[in-house]
Amino acid sequence: MKNYKIGLLRGDGIGPEIVDSAVRVLEAVGKKYNIGFTFTPYLIGGAAIDACGEPLPKETVEGCLASDSVLLGAVGGPKWDNLAGNVRPEKALLGIRAAMGLFTNLRPAKLYPALKDECPLRSDIVANGFDIMIVRELTGGIYFGERGYREGKYGEEAYDTEAYSRMEIERIARVAFETARKRNKKLTSIDKANVLETSRLWRKIVHEIAAEYPDVTVSDMLVDNAAMQLVRNPSQFDVIVTSNMFGDILSDEASQITGSIGMLPSASLGESTRGLYEPIHGSAPDIAGLNKANPIATILSAAMMLLYAFDEKEASEAIVAAVDKVLNEGLRTADLARGETKALSTSEMTDEIVKRL
Ligand code: NAD
Repeated sequence: MKNYKIGLLRGDGIGPEIVDSAVRVLEAVGKKYNIGFTFTPYLIGGAAIDACGEPLPKETVEGCLASDSVLLGAVGGPKWDNLAGNVRPEKALLGIRAAMGLFTNLRPAKLYPALKDECPLRSDIVANGFDIMIVRELTGGIYFGERGYREGKYGEEAYDTEAYSRMEIERIARVAFETARKRNKKLTSIDKANVLETSRLWRKIVHEIAAEYPDVTVSDMLVDNAAMQLVRNPSQFDVIVTSNMFGDILSDEASQITGSIGMLPSASLGESTRGLYEPIHGSAPDIAGLNKANPIATILSAAMMLLYAFDEKEASEAIVAAVDKVLNEGLRTADLARGETKALSTSEMTDEIVKRL
């Protein structure tokens, strides 16, 4: 029997509750598909500050690097909001991503037909739901470029620069094509090639890499048009690949049009198959410890881990199918329950998903 070592970063707020839900689901699916998991918890965020004075202890980094994959809940909360920047819980997120060499962020935005009413778009636009995977470059571009202040033509000015190397574009393009291969084989590369030199290089290299993936259809779209198309006709997209800043903005736009923050998973990946899997939402301090959080984003993050880290497609799909079933049967946690619908607790929702595996 295969056995995977999973590092658990429960973190703060609702983090421990939702990570424990995902562990229960992984254990159940593991039993069914004969996959073993060894879970080892490590401290991160506010919990780590409380225990040892720093948000990302050395043992946590070493433990994650020694794991086959890592599942994260969320970090942060009002208790640690007034600490200095380098001991803030959120600092641990950048630290762990850098230590693990994660240069890709995979952010799916899926509108489940059963949750159509949550979507802020007109019902005819989303009649069939949508299922988009955004592949965002995570460690290059303008967020990491040269920056500063200087005296300019009009006095004081600030500047940031965007640079992308061939290597950075090639590796993110390959991840995007591989991801498209695992889905509907349709890739949209988003840039601003009518203005930016980095985008022109991006576009050229994406098309070079396309030759290695003749089974994937690739097209280009300018970022301003993409922002519009996401709300005009989101179902036209399958996989999107884009730069760090464009991906930051478009992935938030895409998650908003699903209307349900508690449903969306994500993965951050590097050269090795070991990645960091986490829900896109934060630690929700307002409902922490109340057994009210929606565990589905974290459960779906575990499903992404099975697919992308371990290539356990059947087990991954079984989790997604179980989530589909609970939603289609009208089961809802408090964030999604409307009118007369009884809200299930975190643990009750987890029980229902486990039952349907
Ligand atoms: P948040 O995502 O934690 O919460 C926003 C709203 O969504 C809240 O009303 C919350 O109750 C609700 N919500 C979020 N997840 C939910 C879930 N699974 N089920 C039901 N409701 C859910 O964002 P915020 O309030 O801006 O941030 C709270 C803390 O989380 C801050 O300290 C912030 O820095 C941190 N944060 C951490 C991460 C991370 O760990 N990756 C990401 C974003 C924010």
